Amino acid sequence: VVDAGDDAAVLRLTPGHDLVATTDAFVENVHFRREWLDPTGIGARLAAANLSDLAAMAATPRWALLSMGIRGDHPAASLIDVQRGLAAALEPHGAVITGGNLTRVEGGEWFDLTLLGEAAPGEAWTRGGARPGDWIAITGHPGRAGAGCRVAMALGDAARAAPFASLIDAWLRPTPRIDLARALAGRGCVTGAIDVSDGFGADLGRLCAASRVGARVEDALWPRDPALAAGAVALRVEADALRFGPSDDYELLLAVNPARRAEAEALAGERGVPLCFVGRFTESPARVWIDGNGAETPLPDGGWDHFGAR
Ligand SMILES: [Mg+2]
Repeated sequence: VVDAGDDAAVLRLTPGHDLVATTDAFVENVHFRREWLDPTGIGARLAAANLSDLAAMAATPRWALLSMGIRGDHPAASLIDVQRGLAAALEPHGAVITGGNLTRVEGGEWFDLTLLGEAAPGEAWTRGGARPGDWIAITGHPGRAGAGCRVAMALGDAARAAPFASLIDAWLRPTPRIDLARALAGRGCVTGAIDVSDGFGADLGRLCAASRVGARVEDALWPRDPALAAGAVALRVEADALRFGPSDDYELLLAVNPARRAEAEALAGERGVPLCFVGRFTESPARVWIDGNGAETPLPDGGWDHFGAR
């Protein structure tokens, strides 16, 4: 109703819909490094993180508010590029920038987005709906973003070489799964959801805790990711440590109604989104990993520690 440029924006919801709100910040040298992300890329990456939270709620993105803390010597043209990258990443999902704020900082710069979306009453997914027997489904290849970040820090420019391209891409240019989420929500395939922003193990733990269920994840159901294997060799770690460990992949971790699994697979297939059914939610609260030999171990759940030592 009233766009950017006034003291506040005035937004009109689709009649009868719920407002779904999220916010996510992007801080220099914590979330991004200038040598790895240009201003347009910063805008796009900021959009992706916030869009992913709305995807995890099956909400439709509508409006964004951008707040920036910028050093005094920052060239104005590059701020326009941040905004351009942000707007371009929001646009395909139907969202626009409706306002923002700019302030001067002395240290690291930061970009903070508030993204507002809407959902039909009661249709937003939550972390609390998974039931014992539901499938555990994951989009994309969790672990790649964290591996990409680690490879970039460990190898520097050598990480730009071909074997690591998909890892670096997952780290710098994640794909929010809005379109798939909207399609799945329309068919009632999903009972609970979270997006992987800290790591598969940690975010599965959060979904299980909120739903009061456990999980059995099986190696036999989850094909090896060659990209992750290449990263593991370069970093001299186990590929599974990357798959389950800290990683901001912005993929969807879903509880899928077993009666709707085929439908969910078809919807993902139509959109070219990898969707893998890696195990089941259980009545027992334990989260268990069945390895390639059939042995059961507790599923690693160490995710990104926001306040841990660097
Ligand atoms: Mg989230």
